[in-house]
Amino acid sequence: MEPNPTIFHALHSPPARICCWRLLFFLLLTGLPVYGADSVRKVKFSGTPEQPGLAEHARQIGNEFYPKILALFPDDAPKVAQQFDIIFKPLKSHNSGETYASRAKIYLNSDYLTNNPAAQNWIGNNITNFDKVFIHEMAHMTQQYKTGARIPFYWEEGMADYVRFKLGYTNGWECAECSAEYPHYISGYTCMGAFLLYIDATCGPKVIRQLHTELRRGSYSDAFFSKTTGRSLDALWAQFQNTPTFTPVAAQANQVLKEIGYLDGKPPRDVNARFKTYVREHGDPDVIQFFKYVDALPAKDMYGRSLKEIQNQLRIYLYFTQPGGAPEALLRKMLKQGELPGFAKGDHGWIHGALNLGEMDAPAYPVSRTLRCKKNNEPSTYNYTFVRPGSNTAWTLQKAWQSDPDGQVIKEYSIPW
Ligand SMILES: [Zn+2]
Repeated sequence: MEPNPTIFHALHSPPARICCWRLLFFLLLTGLPVYGADSVRKVKFSGTPEQPGLAEHARQIGNEFYPKILALFPDDAPKVAQQFDIIFKPLKSHNSGETYASRAKIYLNSDYLTNNPAAQNWIGNNITNFDKVFIHEMAHMTQQYKTGARIPFYWEEGMADYVRFKLGYTNGWECAECSAEYPHYISGYTCMGAFLLYIDATCGPKVIRQLHTELRRGSYSDAFFSKTTGRSLDALWAQFQNTPTFTPVAAQANQVLKEIGYLDGKPPRDVNARFKTYVREHGDPDVIQFFKYVDALPAKDMYGRSLKEIQNQLRIYLYFTQPGGAPEALLRKMLKQGELPGFAKGDHGWIHGALNLGEMDAPAYPVSRTLRCKKNNEPSTYNYTFVRPGSNTAWTLQKAWQSDPDGQVIKEYSIPW
């Protein structure tokens, strides 16, 4: 655990200043507001000097948004930390995640941000993706919910996403909707966040403020919604499913979960066997074939996300069964018909490379995917870029090229071949 910087300073300050530090420490502990002070107390990135730009950005976002988050929950705001530290450090135990928050500190995984290609995609392309996660983490500092058997995690994770939606970050990556990744409110995150935003819009923000207080006190039960809105949680959830943020793919995901025996969000004991049976019984030959391929892959995708977890297996299934099919199916069809550039009829090969789950969720159109194929006893790679302009249009092959093991282009094929 990190030494508390305030205690550290108190121990290392001359006696005359100790009481000042003690007083400040007391104020922070009791949570009395520190008027006029910036929300961000310290940004520590000495172990990661390559992040100064991001560190400064984090400070600005913290100072701008933390007071707004406190203002969303005014009844409880005086009881939570008024200031916090931002710490960039390698978080080996949080390798697949990016950040986490304690009561008055936000840790950012500098190792992930610097070395993981997913992070380059994630914030390299759009800094607001960082802001979304950062606001979510700041919201966690205000929560300290009594999660456990009675109050499941999804309230905490859903409310943190509700906060960032409420503060304007509803669109783009991880937008306010139920998806293949988060199909139900019990998945937490964007689905619960979108559901809470719906309750806010239809029943008023006061309900969300009261909910937050009940969750903090540990006194929440599902009866809360009947008491405060006159509608049960189930009734609100059923109404919410008529809104566009409850997407068709989320409905399909919930249907599959129900059919394989999920009950109140809990999987049956033999969930993996049931899911395999479901795929065998419902998938077309292509889908069944692709799952054999997925089963043969390592347990994790290229960014370290488990491919064996049922939630991710479901995402893969929804990807392969998307209306209009997946580009992998078109590639197989072209191969069979001798229409795949670089492959003669009867040539054998395989799709090469790990899956990227992030590319498989319901896309924002237009979408493009590049698949890479190999042939037996041949070092080169055959690359195919497929595009789909919208959900009502089919995938088409846009570009095809052969590359050597260093990725250098050997040959480009004209389309159609
Ligand atoms: Zn979270």
